[in-house]
Amino acid sequence: MALISQGIADSSLRHHMENARKNGVTREEAAAIITHATMYSGWPKGWAAFRLAKEVWTDDEEPAGEKGVRIAEPSGLSKEFPKGVPNDAYAQYFVGNSWVAPLGDPQLGATNVTFEPGCRNNWHIHHKGGQVLICIAGRGWYQEWGKPAQELRPGDVVSIQPEVKHWHGAAADSWFQHIALAVPAEGASAEWLEPVDAQAYEQLG
Ligand code: MN
Repeated sequence: MALISQGIADSSLRHHMENARKNGVTREEAAAIITHATMYSGWPKGWAAFRLAKEVWTDDEEPAGEKGVRIAEPSGLSKEFPKGVPNDAYAQYFVGNSWVAPLGDPQLGATNVTFEPGCRNNWHIHHKGGQVLICIAGRGWYQEWGKPAQELRPGDVVSIQPEVKHWHGAAADSWFQHIALAVPAEGASAEWLEPVDAQAYEQLG
C-alpha cells in the first residue's frame, strides 16, 4: 500500500505482489487492496498498480476469456478517464450514486460523470447554454420530454439544446460514464425538476 501511494509501480512492487500471491492472496483480494490504496494515492497511481497486478495474477484459475480483465475493470469503467469524487454537490438531483472528475482547466466545463447501475439525474433544463454528452463507458439512457428514451453506448455523442427538458443516466443493470461539456453562454444556468418516473425508468431495461 505504501509503495502504491508513492506511485512506485516497478520491480519492487511487483516483487511484493508476487510474494503476496505465493502467500495465497487471490486476485479478488489484490483488487480490493489496490482499490483501497487508490483512495489515498489517486487513480493514476492506482491504475499503474492494477496493470502490474494484472500481470502478476494473470494466470490464476480464471475461466477462459476473462483472464486479466476483471481485475482492471471492476465495474466496466473507463481505464483512461478518472472516476473522481462523489457528486455531493448535485446528489439531491440524482437517484443513486454518481461521481465527478473535472477534466482539464475547470473553466472548460468538461466533467467525466460516472453513474452506478440504476443511477440517473432528475429532469432538468440547461438555460441559455446547452450541453454535450460524450459517452465513454457502459450503457445508459438519454431522454427528452415527450420523446422516447435513447440508449447510449460508448462513442455516442448527444447534443442537448438550451431550454430542452431532459434527463440522462445509467441503465438499470450497467455502470455508465459520459463526459459532460457545458456549452458556454452568457448567464447560463441549470434548472432542476422532478425525478424520472421510477416505473417508466424500470421499463427501459
Ligand atoms: Mn443535462
